[in-house]
Amino acid sequence: METAHIHRHDSEFLRLILVVCPTCGGKAQLTKLDGVTARRLVCTVCGHNRDIEPRNGYSITYPPTDNICNGLSLWLEAETRHGRLYAFNEEHLDHIAAYVASNLREMAPTRGLRNASVTSRLPLWVKQAKNRTEVLKLIDKLRSK
Ligand SMILES: [Zn+2]
Repeated sequence: METAHIHRHDSEFLRLILVVCPTCGGKAQLTKLDGVTARRLVCTVCGHNRDIEPRNGYSITYPPTDNICNGLSLWLEAETRHGRLYAFNEEHLDHIAAYVASNLREMAPTRGLRNASVTSRLPLWVKQAKNRTEVLKLIDKLRSK
């Protein structure tokens, strides 16, 4: 893996966010629309779709809150004895998995992107070597969800 891809900015993962469908509880996609703050919700299960204007504009935070966008919950989310693991989408999940597997936490992120880097903001327990097997197992489980 290229080291340049280890520390990526959160916003790279925010174009498509997987959320729980408010209608059927299935997997829905929340997509960023060009030029506006609204996001389009499309459920892959029941077909429910509508545009959502986020109350907090562009500021979707990481770690995300329970309310990722106007009451929607993340799809890729799992509770553990350490805390909660979450990813915005499959690519984000893969990124976290690669980071955890490679155990490159000592590598300094690009200056200026330190706080914005996805990996720098992962909870400490996710980064700890002793939890690696457990975290990777959890990521596998989320991936097949
Ligand atoms: Zn649905």
